[in-house]
Parts: sequence; C-alpha cells; structure tokens
Amino acid sequence: MKKYLIPVFVALFAFSCDGTEQKGEVGATPETPAEALELLLDGNKRYMSESNAHPNLGMQRLGQTAPHQEPFAAVVGCSDSRVPVELLFDRGVGDIFVIRTAGNNVGGDMVMGSVEYAVGHLGVQVLLVLGHESCGGVTSAVTGGEHAGSVGNLIHCIQQDIPEYVGVADQIDEAIAKHTAVQVEEVLSNSLVAQKVKEGKLLVKGAHYDVNSGEVKIY
Ligand SMILES: [Zn+2]
Repeated sequence: MKKYLIPVFVALFAFSCDGTEQKGEVGATPETPAEALELLLDGNKRYMSESNAHPNLGMQRLGQTAPHQEPFAAVVGCSDSRVPVELLFDRGVGDIFVIRTAGNNVGGDMVMGSVEYAVGHLGVQVLLVLGHESCGGVTSAVTGGEHAGSVGNLIHCIQQDIPEYVGVADQIDEAIAKHTAVQVEEVLSNSLVAQKVKEGKLLVKGAHYDVNSGEVKIY
C-alpha cells in the first residue's frame, strides 16, 4: 500500500505548484460561456478602476501556452490604438483570440475565417464584436467623401452595412451601435457559429467601448 503514497503525494504537489490557475481565481479558465463573459467584464472593471491583476503573464505562462493555445474568448475589435483588447480586459497571454481591423467589419473571408477558426478549432466560449466610441472607420463611412484604394474599399464595406446612416453626420453614435449590431448578425449567420450557439457552447455578443471611461458595455 505504502508504495502508492509517494506517487500520489508527488502528483498532488505538482498539481498545486505548476502555476495552473484554479477556478475562482483571476486567471482561471472559465467552464461556461457565461463565466467566460464574466471573466472579461471583471477584467474590464479592474482596468477601469486601475486595479489590474495582470493575470497570465510572464515566462511561466509562456511555458504553459507555447505548446498550444486555448483562448477562452475571441474579440472582433477595431485596430484603433485606443482600443487595446487584452489591456482593457486585463487579460494575458493565451486568453483572447483577437481579430482587429479598422472599423471592425466582419465582411470577407479574412475576418470571418478567423472567427470560424476561433470558434471551430480553438473552441472559444465567448465571442464579442467590440465597437467603440469615436470610431474613425465608421465615422468616415457615415461622413462619406472620396477615399482611394483599399481604404476606400474598407469604408465601402462599412457603408454597405449601415446605408441608412451614410450622410447622416449627426448620428455617429447610432451608426456605430447599428454597425456593431449588423456584425453580430453576420457572425451569427455563419453556420458553425450558429451551431455552437445552439449547443450552448458559445455566447456571441455585441459590445461598446467608451474611449473616455474605458468601460465596455454589452448591448
Ligand atoms: Zn474604430
């Protein structure tokens, strides 16, 4: 009997000392989509109150995540430098699969393919489309004007999703909210995403980031 005690002790010791965060801790891995969303929002509260916990950083975390990634969340956000996704959710390495483009439009295979990869291969539990206040991409789409080359194409993609706001320069905030809502609809129209939502394995939400307060609000 005694010969089993040593391996059991070693196993317990390794489990408690390997740096793996346990349920309930800031860096914990969520078990449900609701819990995953809560982890993001809890992190945002810490960010806003300047009480960041900076979970899952450092060489130990790199060692854990180097063999493979298992992020619990995906965020489709804007490339805007004022919307740094991991920072504003107070998360670390390997936590969030981030897809950023100017204006966070999901049109085209580059973005939707990334969404599918996050959902289908990585198994993220929550997917946020994160629009933000004072978004230059959406503002350019609304105010119109001539934009050459690829920037023009990008703005045209945004305009196609909110045609009712093109030329309505006094309703930028409404246009940003509507644009985010349309992106959520488009993500949900993806069959793989819809299936995961139906199975209760994925939560898809639209959200808004306030560049003044740092707050993320879920629509
Ligand atoms: Zn933006």
